[in-house]
This record gives sequence, structure tokens and C-alpha cells, in this order.
Amino acid sequence: MSEPVTMDKIVSLSRRRGFVFPSSEIYGGMGSTYDYGHYGVLMKNNIRQRWFEAMVRNRDDIVAIDSAVILHPKVWEASGHVGGFSDPLIDCRTCKLRFRADKLEDSNCGLKPSKRPGQTPECDLTEPRQFNLMFETTVGALQEEGSRAFLRPETAQGIFINFKNVLQIARRKPPFGIAQTGKSFRNEITPGNFLFRVREFEQMEMEFFVPPDEADKWYRYWIDERLNWYRRYGLRDSNLRVREHGPEERSHYSQGTSDIEYDYPIGWGELEGIANRGDFDLTQHTEHSTTKLEYVGQDGERYVPYVIEPAVSIERIMVAMLVDAYDEEIVGDRERTVLRLHPLIAPVTAAVLPLIGKNDEMVAKARGLYEDLRRRHSVEYDDGGAIGRRYRRQDEIGTPWAFTVDEQTLEDDTVTVRDRDSLAQERLPIASVRDWIEAALERDWKSPKES
Ligand code: ATP
Repeated sequence: MSEPVTMDKIVSLSRRRGFVFPSSEIYGGMGSTYDYGHYGVLMKNNIRQRWFEAMVRNRDDIVAIDSAVILHPKVWEASGHVGGFSDPLIDCRTCKLRFRADKLEDSNCGLKPSKRPGQTPECDLTEPRQFNLMFETTVGALQEEGSRAFLRPETAQGIFINFKNVLQIARRKPPFGIAQTGKSFRNEITPGNFLFRVREFEQMEMEFFVPPDEADKWYRYWIDERLNWYRRYGLRDSNLRVREHGPEERSHYSQGTSDIEYDYPIGWGELEGIANRGDFDLTQHTEHSTTKLEYVGQDGERYVPYVIEPAVSIERIMVAMLVDAYDEEIVGDRERTVLRLHPLIAPVTAAVLPLIGKNDEMVAKARGLYEDLRRRHSVEYDDGGAIGRRYRRQDEIGTPWAFTVDEQTLEDDTVTVRDRDSLAQERLPIASVRDWIEAALERDWKSPKES
């Protein structure tokens, strides 16, 4: 495809096909907040499921947790979020770096590190403002002292405060991990770029607790694992890279951080972060809660494990996958837009279409097949309008296969299967469609856009 994929194209397709809507639209919209339509929900569910399989279900050493969104306010004091995010901050809209307004003289411009922020013509700084990234709320009926609480800005802390529970009840021993998915909330200063930076997003985080002397090994291991996950689900290698942070860029807790970056239409940006958080979190919570968070072995060995954390949001994955999959091409003399999504990510796995929507026999056969397939898969039945239009609709939502019931089906109980990417069609017995889909989903998949 010659034209580059722009964010506008992705936004417009997402809206047109009901993946994502701007939130509160009938009230004039609410900046950087989105609602997910049917296909958006299905795609999000698939992304979460693929992550959960890779991080929990297919492993012996990671367990799941689902902690509360509103935790004890002291959690955020211990984690450093209450103190750490209350400075006057300035953002640069160009390089996307954030600076302390009172420390500009000690900071480096993101584009030209030899300059200070604001010193190059490209710098585009926001006004300084006192800013805490956390959304505040009050707990209980009265707004009184002690009722102040926060919506979590990350899911990780809900894991750390449950470290002891999991260690005891799940009888784990480092190296082991605890994984969690759920909404996080950040009052971002410069949201925008569609789902890339939003104020509420669904995070998927896993904290992997390891003996301190194995931390570096596991840090490298998780960078590779996560990179391979993106490759497996179809992101092209040429759009992925790993960038290791320099010491000045790292968070206060970090002993090492790498971003898996994706080449978004807005440029290379953080898709997922993998950090070696050291023993910072467990030590902080031990100090603030006075509950000792450490590992004690049967032989009396004791230590505070180090933590390796891969952290990502479904939103950033979704944008990357939509961008990677989006394609426009001319077929015959018609233009078609197609999402070449991995079959296990696509919102709908198969469409079942009677060639002639008004033919009762075809409709009955197609409905029968649809009822059979829907018990296992996300399938869609569509008998409205010309067949070409129905195919194009499925192409736009990324459905990998369409099964069509036609005249011949009524004679010999075979259907055609049309492949979204190659447009090849083959015939197969209607009774074998279920197995055919199972086998197709098992196959390795590579983006046809990868040259
Ligand atoms: P950034 O520098 O882009 O603000 P961050 O380094 O603050 O991100 P982390 O705290 O490391 O982000 O969060 C882990 C992951 O959560 C990120 O890699 C990203 O996938 C996701 N994430 C963070 N903030 C947002 C947001 N505002 N909208 C969507 N996803 C987000």
C-alpha cells in the first residue's frame, strides 16, 4: 500500500464500524475519553485473553489477582505517588517529555539533549501547573478528614500489597509472578492521539518476584517474551523496537527499564514498559504498613525479592494492532479497506452468509451453520444486501473467513470459504467447517503485509 496509515484513518474506521466512539458525544464529548462499541469490546476481550493465556494460563509460575480500584490511601504514600506527582509540571507537546517547572535548568530537551526545554524552535511547552496525576475521590457520605482516596493510577500496587497473601496461600517461591488486568486512571496533562494517551485505560501488568541476583536475567527474559508475544500476534518486526532507558530517564524505583516501542502514525512511542523495580515496592510497603514483605525459605533463608514488571495497556496494543492491520487496495476496479488482523485478535472469527438473503432454504442452512459455530466462536450472520457489500463489511472489521451458502449447498451440502487476505475461495463440506476453523486458528500466522 502506498499511502501511509494515518491516525485519522484509524479513528474514522473505528467510528464507522463501531469499534470506538468518542465518549459522552451527545453532551458535546469529553476530551480523550472513549467508549467501546461491539467490535471494540470483542477485540479488547481477545487482546486480554491472549495476554492472560501467555502470562497465566500457559505457565506454572504466575497466578492471577484482581485487586480493588480504590485502595487504602497509604498505599499511594508508600508507593511514592502522593509525593511524587505533586510538582508543578510542564509538558513539551513536541517531544512528549514532562519536566518539573522548577527544574527546567537541570533538564534536557528531548530532541536536542544539549539544550534546555524551551530553547529550540521546535519546543512547544505547556504552562506550568501544580499537578498530581491521580484522580481524587472521597469515600463515605461525608467529605471529612480522612475520607480522601484515589483511583489507582496503576494496577501494580494492588499486587504488591497482596504479596504476602499469595506467597502463603498459593505456596509460591521466587521466581514467581502475580498478574492483573483492570482499569487505571491518570489525569494526564497532555492526552490525545486517540487511544494512545487516555485518562482511563485498561492496564495489564505482571509483577515477577525473583531472587535479587537473578533480576537482570529475568529482566532480559521478559523483554524477549513480550517482544515475541507481539510478533506472534502479527505486529510486523519492522514496526517494533526495544529502547533501553538511560539512567536519567528511569523512574526513582527503577534499576533498569526498557520500552518496547511501536512505530505509531505519531512516531515511535512506548507500547509496553519492562522495568526492574528492584526491592523498592516491597521495602516501601514493609516500612509503611509494618507488615514484613519478604520471602522466607524453609531453611531459614530470607530476602526481599526483586521485581520485574512488564506493563502495558490494552489501548496501546489496540492502536498498534489496528495500525499494523489497516490496508487499502484495489480489487478489480473497486477499492476495499481491510483490517488484516491476526485471526485470534479479530473481533469476529467467521461470517456466515446466505448468497441470496431472500431464499428460505439458503437462509435455513446458513442459520444452522451459524448456530453451530457460535457455540465455540465469535461468528456473525448477515443476510442483508448484495454479497459484495457484505464481504466488504467483514473485511473492514477484519473477519478472516466468510462462509457462503449458495445454490450448490442445497444440492451437495458444501459451502465456500473466502479468505480475507488472499481472497481465495475453496469449497468444503458444511459438516467440516467447525474443524476447518479450529485447524486454521492453530496455524502460525504472519501479516501478509510483511514483505
Ligand atoms: P508514558 O511515558 O507514555 O506516559 P508511562 O511510562 O508513564 O507512559 P507506565 O507508567 O510505564 O507508563 O505505564 C505502563 C503502560 O501503561 C505503558 O507502557 C502504556 O502501555 C500504558 N499507559 C500508561 N499511560 C497510559 C495512558 N494515559 N493511556 C493509555 N495507556 C497508557
